[in-house]
Amino acid sequence: MKVIAVNAGSSSLKFQLLEMPKETIICSGVVERIGLKDSIFTIKYGDQRQVEIIDIDTHKVAVEKLLEKLVDFGIVKSLEDIEGVGHRVVHGGEKFKDSVAITDEVINAIDEVSELAPLHNPANLTGIHAFMEALPNAFEVAVFDTAFHQTMDPVSFMYSVPYDWYTKYGVRKYGFHGTSHKYVSERASVMLGKDSKDTKIIVCHIGNGASLCAVNGGRSVDTSMGFTPLAGISMGTRSGDIDPAIIEFIANKEDKSISEVMTELNKRSGYLGLSELSSDSRDLWEAVERGDAKSILAVEKQAKMIADYIGAYYLLLGGCDAICFTAGIGENAVETRKLVIDRLGVLGIELDHDKNLTRGKETVISTDESKIKVLLVPTNEEVVIARDTVRLMK
Ligand code: ADP
Repeated sequence: MKVIAVNAGSSSLKFQLLEMPKETIICSGVVERIGLKDSIFTIKYGDQRQVEIIDIDTHKVAVEKLLEKLVDFGIVKSLEDIEGVGHRVVHGGEKFKDSVAITDEVINAIDEVSELAPLHNPANLTGIHAFMEALPNAFEVAVFDTAFHQTMDPVSFMYSVPYDWYTKYGVRKYGFHGTSHKYVSERASVMLGKDSKDTKIIVCHIGNGASLCAVNGGRSVDTSMGFTPLAGISMGTRSGDIDPAIIEFIANKEDKSISEVMTELNKRSGYLGLSELSSDSRDLWEAVERGDAKSILAVEKQAKMIADYIGAYYLLLGGCDAICFTAGIGENAVETRKLVIDRLGVLGIELDHDKNLTRGKETVISTDESKIKVLLVPTNEEVVIARDTVRLMK
């Protein structure tokens, strides 16, 4: 059975076509710059990679183009071959604690939650509508970034603010990257040879966006992102946790609106803000090699924040079987993993420096003597989306 996993952003659409239940990738690709001139359509199929520059005005056109290519390349005989479509949806609020089959009611609910994710949910909905029109007979499923974290206790998800902010406006911690945290913690349990019910895992999803999650017995008990993805550790362009009083202070000093200061915290902080150089980890590590002091500060600040969260989650979980690294930086930036683990020596954690040179492959990167295992686990959100689509189809 063929299932397509879709991640629609405001100007992009990523897709992966999988053969289920074998979970093999048939083809994958991305349409970038939707709505702008010279959109870029990239599709990978076997060892072929085709890049086409064409004007794609809307997500609907992107989906039509994509499906046309699948037929032209002979990847599918007819569009009826695609039986399921799984959509990544960023925010499910408190309503969605699991993935769901898409109905009109679900679409309305995703729309209602858009207030909490104004940049993401409307884009995700555009992808849903485009596929529903193009593949009217396929089974459509929504998979939420927030759903995995709905198991958190109020003591973890409530902020210490007037209670009625929660009841009136839904102000609480939601957390994100749930699909990745779920996948990685499950793989970690397999790598440990244990049932996930019997494991305590800390997942560090460190990409351009980054969050940590404490997973006890397969359930998220706390996570570092919050009401929005701005909270937690320092990221590519986001500040992570700061004293909220800074916002009013800077607004006054620089004669800016709150929303302008928020843009600075979202787009001009983190790696980019501290280094004044780049939001990309590769650029920073190159600069670190040259001895660039601000870049050194940027990577060390992030590593400290990651280690601080790991310490807090170690206490919350009452111990820990494994710390996992995943996503662009977690899977590839050997140096970041080292900086983080070097701060955790007091917990008896030891990195195997040779194994830590591994990139992008499931590996135990701690020594045999290490009290807590450190794992490198490449994430695979698409496979979770495809699995959930098949599960709900049944
Ligand atoms: P997102 O999905 O949040 O956009 P990714 O998970 O793709 O982000 O991660 C992007 C980050 O991963 C970038 O900072 C990039 O520099 C980093 N990255 C990717 N490959 C490497 C590498 N080989 N070494 C160091 N960093 C890497």
